[in-house]
Amino acid sequence: MILAPNQQNSKARGSLFIVSGPSGVGKGTLVAAALKALPNLALSVSATTRPPRPGDVEGVDYYFKTEEEFDQLIQNGGFVEWAEVHGRRYGTLTSEVNKALGEGKDLILEIDPQGFMQVKSHMSEVVSIFIAPPSLEELKRRLKQRGTEDDQSISQRLKTAEIEIQAKDSYNVVIINDDLEKALQELVSLITQKGNIQATT
Ligand code: 5GP
Repeated sequence: MILAPNQQNSKARGSLFIVSGPSGVGKGTLVAAALKALPNLALSVSATTRPPRPGDVEGVDYYFKTEEEFDQLIQNGGFVEWAEVHGRRYGTLTSEVNKALGEGKDLILEIDPQGFMQVKSHMSEVVSIFIAPPSLEELKRRLKQRGTEDDQSISQRLKTAEIEIQAKDSYNVVIINDDLEKALQELVSLITQKGNIQATT
């Protein structure tokens, strides 16, 4: 069970930020840059049944789980939320959230809109941010340029993107990632305003 920040001593407890956006929109790049700029900000490392991509590091990018291990975590109440995205399961570990917020860190969950709806339903004090592409065409171009997905996976991710973008108005803030620097400034200033932390840059 997680206590929302408003149920805690809010000075000692960090704030929770949810960042969603379609695959390829650049949210990973934006979140990595925000983490660099804000030392008291942490990222919740999710568990997933997706196989590691080249360069993925266990415990840094994800905790990679078998289907059985993931089922076990669900049964043991190990997740704050979990969802199936692009045919694989992804979930936020209760242990990650409690540890970071308990240490007074502000925490980012980089999760899909299904996961956001679950967190929102039992935690009122979250700040939710949707990172949107300037257009679907541009998103397709970025996914192709990234070169991590085959054509089938790109078209699956674009279909998911269309559905995810429809959820954007449920978020507190929508940031359009047209210009990376500008989008980063918006993200950092939002976290600085709403979180317990100070920017160093
Ligand atoms: P990827 O396979 O590209 O690493 O991630 C695919 C999508 O899964 C991401 O765009 C992100 O929105 C979503 N995702 C990653 N971790 C979680 C999680 O813990 N929970 C949920 N609901 N979605 C996640």
